[in-house]
Amino acid sequence: MYDIIIIGAGPAGMTAAIYARRASKSVLVLEALSYGGQIINTPDIENYPAAAHISGFEFATKVYEQAAALGAEFVFEKAVDIIDGGSEKTVVTTDNSYTCKAVIIATGSRNRRLGLPNEDELIGRGVSYCATCDGAFFRGKTVAVVGGGNTALEDALYLCDLAAKVYLIHRRDAFRGDEKTVSALKARETAEIIYNSTVTALLADKRLTGIEVTDKDGGVRTIETDGLFVAVGRVPENAGFAKLIKLDEAGYIAAGEDCLTNVPGIYAAGDGRAKNVRQLVTAAADGAVSAEAAVRYISEL
Ligand code: NAP
Repeated sequence: MYDIIIIGAGPAGMTAAIYARRASKSVLVLEALSYGGQIINTPDIENYPAAAHISGFEFATKVYEQAAALGAEFVFEKAVDIIDGGSEKTVVTTDNSYTCKAVIIATGSRNRRLGLPNEDELIGRGVSYCATCDGAFFRGKTVAVVGGGNTALEDALYLCDLAAKVYLIHRRDAFRGDEKTVSALKARETAEIIYNSTVTALLADKRLTGIEVTDKDGGVRTIETDGLFVAVGRVPENAGFAKLIKLDEAGYIAAGEDCLTNVPGIYAAGDGRAKNVRQLVTAAADGAVSAEAAVRYISEL
């Protein structure tokens, strides 16, 4: 039996592993994909203390190596259920089940889809959710980015260095993302911002050839584009735990800054928790808070 099982190897989960190992607890980290979570898609982190410039992948790798060197075990299996037996909990994965005294859920979130009929079949054929992963395929071509948050702005800026033309389509006339990035994008000659508009159809002939864009007055235009990068936010990955763990109406785990869920000995950390500020630094903070809480819980069993 492990002391603590952490579900999710993003910045929150791996920080929790570091804190829990430093408290001499045995730790298993379960991860469905690869370590790092969504931060691996960020080309350049500029807002983490003492790291003025570091790529998301390098950051994630350093945290992974730190946690592993401290003795955290990593198993790459998708956790699908938690069975609460009080002082003994079972985490069920697609392949196995593992028992522990406390669980930290740090499963984060996944990309929100636009919800257009042929969107899924065009993934990898012009439609992408990760500019840093797929941007290089569009060198010298025309691309569009949809969204108005930091991800869309940073994706558009990143693509300006590769593509011949970058459209940024946002459904409102004001951005949710940082003013500094908006200004940097506006200064790029290859960038064109289309406000108050949504992408209403994906035009394709085996792969994406263009998009239909509808403005708030109902005006429709077609934009020829080789690529569409969708950056319209994220949705939490908590549905699998909903029968045990209380979620809010948007699907985030209903836990405060103390990371406590409705079940004693089960904690929530990172972007999947209900919170106002979803940043790398707050994910790491949740990792520390949840691990300290789990360690305290175990000491009182
Ligand atoms: P976000 O901040 O939630 O922004 C999502 C954007 O997509 C919003 O502008 C939203 O429009 C738009 N949107 C949502 N659904 C849409 C739809 N169906 N059709 C068209 N547009 C739609 O998401 P994010 O940009 O992925 O950022 C997530 C979090 O990570 C944020 O807290 C962000 O600050 C943070 N982040 C930080 C950095 C950094 O600090 N370097 C980098 C990336 C992300 P409305 O504005 O109208 O709602």
